[in-house]
Amino acid sequence: EAKQAGRNCSRYFLASMNQSLDERLNLESELRQALSAGQLQLHFQPKLALADARVLGMEVLLRWPHPVRGWVPPDRFIPVAEECGLINALDAWVLEAACRQLRDWAEAGLPGLQLSVNVSALRFVQDDVAAHVQQQLQRHGLQASQLTLEITERLMLDERGRPHEQLLALDAMGVRLSVDDFGTGYSSLSYLKRLPVSEIKLDKSFVRDLDSDPDDRALASAVISIGQALDLSVVAEGVETEAQRETLLRLGCRIGQGWLFGRPMDAQAMAQWLRSRERAPA
Ligand code: C2E
Ligand code: MG
Ligand code: MG
Ligand code: MG
Repeated sequence: EAKQAGRNCSRYFLASMNQSLDERLNLESELRQALSAGQLQLHFQPKLALADARVLGMEVLLRWPHPVRGWVPPDRFIPVAEECGLINALDAWVLEAACRQLRDWAEAGLPGLQLSVNVSALRFVQDDVAAHVQQQLQRHGLQASQLTLEITERLMLDERGRPHEQLLALDAMGVRLSVDDFGTGYSSLSYLKRLPVSEIKLDKSFVRDLDSDPDDRALASAVISIGQALDLSVVAEGVETEAQRETLLRLGCRIGQGWLFGRPMDAQAMAQWLRSRERAPA
């Protein structure tokens, strides 16, 4: 009987695996379609000085409004895109759309804004990101300093070859490089010495329980100290409460993003948000 149960169990297990494989294939073809049909959107989340709420820039976050599934979260479709080889096209589209948006905003009376764009580590292996960035900056008449690329520690593990050369080329151009989800990647820290990184982002998993969990506070404090010691900007992610803002400031972190200041919003809402702040400075 136990044997029988075991067999059923593994059959269920296989059935659910098949289902998730089916599900992945569906998601993959629907994502391809959405990309080519122009259904993907950029949203923007402000990045601010924690002390006085000065706006320092915005992070570009990809959004997929699916006609049936609703908003599919990036944590769900980005890994699928990475597995099926669609990530290059996807991230290339995001970069172009972000640059176009910067130009459109400049023409609409919001010049010189800064955008941070997430780029999958895989793209640096398969594609010439530096050349594409150069081309897009030129095409849209932008300064390199208006653009920051957010990459994860995964990329830093490979300290030779194509990715490394591209990071150096981007730095030489004047594009800023930021290490996203810092502290969650189990990688050595020595790359910070060798690669032209100018910002690290304190992962929101360290920020969430900052005021109740002494371990998280210790880890956040350690990350902030590393940043200060190496003269890097430290940006806290996921700042949701006033208490977190104060604790971060006390620990020496000066920049943050989070729902406390602004949720990710579409381009029109972002422009409105920026203009309303111009009129009523904090
Ligand atoms: P990330 O780059 O670390 O982005 C931060 C995530 O935190 C975003 O999730 C953002 O919406 C969310 N967030 C912002 N403020 C708060 C807050 O106060 N509380 C909480 N709980 N969350 C907050 P999102 O938009 O779902 O994106 C998830 C991840 O998907 C991103 O993490 C990034 O790794 C990836 N991603 C998004 N857009 C792109 C893209 O264009 N290309 C690539 N390769 N990856 C992307
Ligand atoms: Mg990011
Ligand atoms: Mg992050
Ligand atoms: Mg994160």
